[in-house]
Amino acid sequence: EGRIQRIASSIRVIPNFPKPGVIFQDITTLLLDPKAFRDTIDFFVERYGDKKISVVAGVEARGFIFGPPVALAIGAKFVPLRKPKKLPGEVISEEYSLEYGSDKLEMHVGAVQPNDRAIVIDDLIATGGTLCAAIKLIERVGAEVVECACVIELPELKGREKLGGRPLFVLVK
Ligand code: 5GP
Repeated sequence: EGRIQRIASSIRVIPNFPKPGVIFQDITTLLLDPKAFRDTIDFFVERYGDKKISVVAGVEARGFIFGPPVALAIGAKFVPLRKPKKLPGEVISEEYSLEYGSDKLEMHVGAVQPNDRAIVIDDLIATGGTLCAAIKLIERVGAEVVECACVIELPELKGREKLGGRPLFVLVK
């Protein structure tokens, strides 16, 4: 499809960032193309608009770019899942291993309720560790993760298999 093609070609590929051997997919160039950015948001809104989603959880930092416009369009809460020590209130946290090292994600207690139906949005899935931690945070408070959604998947890293069977929707592989 033309819209997917435009999104794919708006993503810049930067070799050896943030360290030698890594090929970084840079979505900041997608944001410079208003049509590609709009189409990206529209694909997610079309997919989730009629699925009774009450929470869009965005993973720091680039999930904070794609998540809020989707949440506003579908009338859901936006919940930031943040790196350690950024959220001021009481938090729960999950540790995970990343392509480059290990890290933690935190979520405010009370932001997500047991009856919530959530999607998790990030820019990219690599090993799946980040989304796995995000899923755990939401499920720990008794809510349902209906699906994870990313702009980009690196399928050779098999991150999809780390999601324990929860569906993953991606625009570009
Ligand atoms: P994972 O936990 O799936 O191995 O890594 C995914 C996380 O790392 C996401 O939060 C994503 O933003 C970041 N990430 C890893 N590699 C890349 C990349 O090549 N490009 C971008 N934009 N983010 C990446």
